[in-house]
Amino acid sequence: MEVRNCNKCGKIFNYVTGPSICQGCRKNLEEVFTVVRKYVRRNPQSTIPEIAEECDTDIKQIRQWIREERLSFTSDSDVGIECEQCGVSIKTGRYCEACKKAVTENLDRAYEKAPPKPEMNKFRDQKKDTKMRFLNKNDV
Ligand SMILES: [Zn+2]
Ligand SMILES: [Zn+2]
Repeated sequence: MEVRNCNKCGKIFNYVTGPSICQGCRKNLEEVFTVVRKYVRRNPQSTIPEIAEECDTDIKQIRQWIREERLSFTSDSDVGIECEQCGVSIKTGRYCEACKKAVTENLDRAYEKAPPKPEMNKFRDQKKDTKMRFLNKNDV
């Protein structure tokens, strides 16, 4: 059995799985989450700092819930977090639609195990380089 210190209150507890938070704090957190979710439903236009203030929790925690897709905001709300890939504002989760698609496509490609074509890429890069040098010469 693993014993850890709770991230929230520092109490020693028997760690099982998930974040390092003791049972008591985990229960409290669930209660706060219920309050936050209700508040967001009633005040869809509120910002993350407002929610944190009103619900007596911290911004980091709220952002984590958004990342976990437990909290989401309506499309007319200004609330958003950044896509982990490109930084665009999103409502929930980790990636924007475009990056989500790209990630899925990359996974598909990985499954197919298509061999990369280094020769083709090298050729294209060289061509680009030549063109750029040519342009530079003209500029001068
Ligand atoms: Zn605790
Ligand atoms: Zn993105």
